[in-house]
Amino acid sequence: MSLFDTHVVVDWSGGNDAGPRPRKDAIWACSSRDRTPIYLRNRHVAEEWLAALIQEECDADRRCLIGFDFPFGYPQGFAQAVTGSHDPLALWDWLEARIEDHPDHNNRCHVASGINAQSGGIGPFWGNPFRARDFEHLPRKGLARTNTDFPERRAVEDRAEGSFTCWQLAGAGAVGSQVLMGLPVLARLRRRFAGQISVWPFEALDSLIAFVEIWPSLIASQIAQAQRPGEIKDAAQMRVLSHVLASLDKRGRLKAMLAEGREGASEGWILGVGHEAEMAQMAQEQHDPAALANDCFALPQGVDWTSVDDALALLKERMQNVTQTETIPTDQSAGRVLAQDVLAQRANPPAANSAIDGYGFAFDHMAPDMPLNAGRAVAGDRFQGVLPAGQAVRILTGAVLPEGVDTVVMQEECEVSDGRVALSAKVKRGQNTRKAGEDVGQGEMALKACHTMRAQDVALLTALGVANVTVATRLRVGVLSTGDELIAPTSNAPPDRTFDANRPMLLSLVERWGYEPVDLGHVADNRDALRDALNAGAGRCDVILTSGGASAGDADHVSAILSQEGALTSWRIAIKPGRPLALAMWNGTPIFGLPGNPVAAFTCALIFARPSFSVLAGGVWSEPQGFMVPAAFSKSKKQGRREFSRARLTQDGHAEVFKSEGSGRISGLSWAEGFVELADPARDVTPGDLVRYVPFASYGL
Ligand code: AMP
Ligand code: MG
Repeated sequence: MSLFDTHVVVDWSGGNDAGPRPRKDAIWACSSRDRTPIYLRNRHVAEEWLAALIQEECDADRRCLIGFDFPFGYPQGFAQAVTGSHDPLALWDWLEARIEDHPDHNNRCHVASGINAQSGGIGPFWGNPFRARDFEHLPRKGLARTNTDFPERRAVEDRAEGSFTCWQLAGAGAVGSQVLMGLPVLARLRRRFAGQISVWPFEALDSLIAFVEIWPSLIASQIAQAQRPGEIKDAAQMRVLSHVLASLDKRGRLKAMLAEGREGASEGWILGVGHEAEMAQMAQEQHDPAALANDCFALPQGVDWTSVDDALALLKERMQNVTQTETIPTDQSAGRVLAQDVLAQRANPPAANSAIDGYGFAFDHMAPDMPLNAGRAVAGDRFQGVLPAGQAVRILTGAVLPEGVDTVVMQEECEVSDGRVALSAKVKRGQNTRKAGEDVGQGEMALKACHTMRAQDVALLTALGVANVTVATRLRVGVLSTGDELIAPTSNAPPDRTFDANRPMLLSLVERWGYEPVDLGHVADNRDALRDALNAGAGRCDVILTSGGASAGDADHVSAILSQEGALTSWRIAIKPGRPLALAMWNGTPIFGLPGNPVAAFTCALIFARPSFSVLAGGVWSEPQGFMVPAAFSKSKKQGRREFSRARLTQDGHAEVFKSEGSGRISGLSWAEGFVELADPARDVTPGDLVRYVPFASYGL
């Protein structure tokens, strides 16, 4: 049993507002609940985010551990010298009353300088991040200090190799500013949620929320290994650490680590110090299947037009599982992808039983006319004891064969009167019985990893006693529409406006495919807006579908920004309708840039996005099933491209195509029930010729 339901870690920052764009040295946080690092541009945003989190956890009555990567206390004696109290938390309040924090400036150096002055010399604080401004009592160099009243380090820091002291306010890696700017925020949260937060190791952890001190550098190299291409280091640290804490807790290890904090009763303690090896192991366990390389969409050099087959082959080779795993009840697993092979917990059937309603007996002692035993064997109510040799017993479908019975005769083939059973037909040994485990034996493989659960699979696993399954977390698919002309449907729209039809269409597809649709809204053809939307989307989604702006024209901001700021490959695919398809990586998240035209967007989503998503989601590459059927149309098709016509089957099983091939005809999508897929070479189709028909059901619709 875990001590906590939720494990959150926060990578603090002592500096100014980092701006809207996710970057390092800002504040990053990650919860074990969604495992998605969150970017918090400044401490005000972080404080509100933390308050909302704490409120949510308290409302849900969940125990939540929140780790911060800065010291909760100073070396022995300091808190008392400043506040007159032994209580390290009194120093939190003391600082809270004095620190002023604005997005672009704060008074931390001023406060530190004031403390130095009060301490009767130069020190203990040192380091000045401002080149052009001096603080009277705050020296730029540590060696310039004259106040050596306080220890240089906390006890725990002697055990944390490479850790910085709380006194140092400036310089790469220094933590002093974070402490001064962090403790006031924590002090306010303590007040705001009075009685609901305990601070480790100063207080007993007897409330719902626990604040603890963490230090990512304890497992620096494992975190570096787990970093995803394009992922910001601070984000990776928080993602891995939240997982490590949750795993330690699950294995009952957190309790012992929390018990160790008593040594730091007044100075604070780093959770997990001395347990680096164990933490490293948990970090490695989260070995990251999610690492799609930044160049995963790169095309071979010199390729101009890519055939549909080549594009699919490349996607098939490059895509990989980006999900994590979770364990859920089998009865809720329909549509989910198995993350592990599933073995039968129990045989099916678990014991030999009868396949029919009739009379059972031992074949070796069979007689044409046998006495009927007074007992009965019924499913759910087995015959007690052993059936005496030479007797028959009433037995119903599904009933466990009583000991002494190996053969069953159908009731229609028996005559029963005066307590005797007479047989009227020829009997074979063992007939009408099912052997134990004849369907699936105990411990046998029932379903393989990567399989997508369907209703019948739920039945199978349930029959085999498998109550829970480990599945891939649901793939989160973001959908973003782009284009100045797009608006939400209204009754009085000017004719130069287009209703955003792609977004609801694509969100519906995603949902239908069993993934988690994430509506990223609509952005105009504006680079900054697009960048913000992609940043936000990449933070929340495993993959993003955009539509519009994908070709290389002037107004095509999607391909422009992706080629300059993401790793874009624009694929000119020889397909109708559909090209171009823009494929790119954005902050480690793959982007499928679909054409804006709804007919083309739909077609490309089915042909390219669907099988790719299946692999990203932990499943297998899915090939749509098609059938050769006679054509009910004629057509002359050009050489060199794959064509998908909106089609459906006539009553007599011929494929007819929509009356117009115009790619603006959205009504044809609704009319159709599948595609006629014509291969790349030129071809003249006349009625009756066999063509490949692929029903939409083959694309999971
Ligand atoms: P684009 O690929 O941006 O050049 O768009 C091609 C065509 O598709 C244009 O006529 C757009 O107005 C239209 N279009 C783009 N996005 C959407 C959308 N979300 N819904 C409906 N039509 C769209
Ligand atoms: Mg556009």
